[in-house]
Amino acid sequence: MSGGKYVEMGWIKISDSGEKPSLVGSRCLQCSEVFFPPKKVCPNCWSRNFEKIFLGQKGLLDNFTISFVAPQGFKAPYVQGFVDLQEGPRIFSLIEVDESEYCHLKKGCEVELTIKEIFTDDSKSPTAVWKYVPIRNIKTFC
Ligand SMILES: [Zn+2]
Repeated sequence: MSGGKYVEMGWIKISDSGEKPSLVGSRCLQCSEVFFPPKKVCPNCWSRNFEKIFLGQKGLLDNFTISFVAPQGFKAPYVQGFVDLQEGPRIFSLIEVDESEYCHLKKGCEVELTIKEIFTDDSKSPTAVWKYVPIRNIKTFC
């Protein structure tokens, strides 16, 4: 955690001092398990004592799928997959990949967090979402 200014939008932390974005999670103060999204009761030890932590800047891609039909607000094709965060939790996320790079995507790719705005309805009001992007160069590091 740095001393710079930042805002939290739901489970996303965005800094205005150039620091990379993070997700907002929690760590159980009794058993040290890390969670995303944050928990109110630890499923391991039933403790209700947590500290807020910022996490998720990097992870490793696990299984993923490429969808060729997109819901409203998304462009097809798009990729969704499981990301094992370096702090421990596994999360389900959108994966942002250039169309020319789909064939190089595979389990074990190192990915990093990015925050994007999407439009979810006709009002054109944007919503922030997290995505993971393979760390370049995808052909070299995956
Ligand atoms: Zn616990």
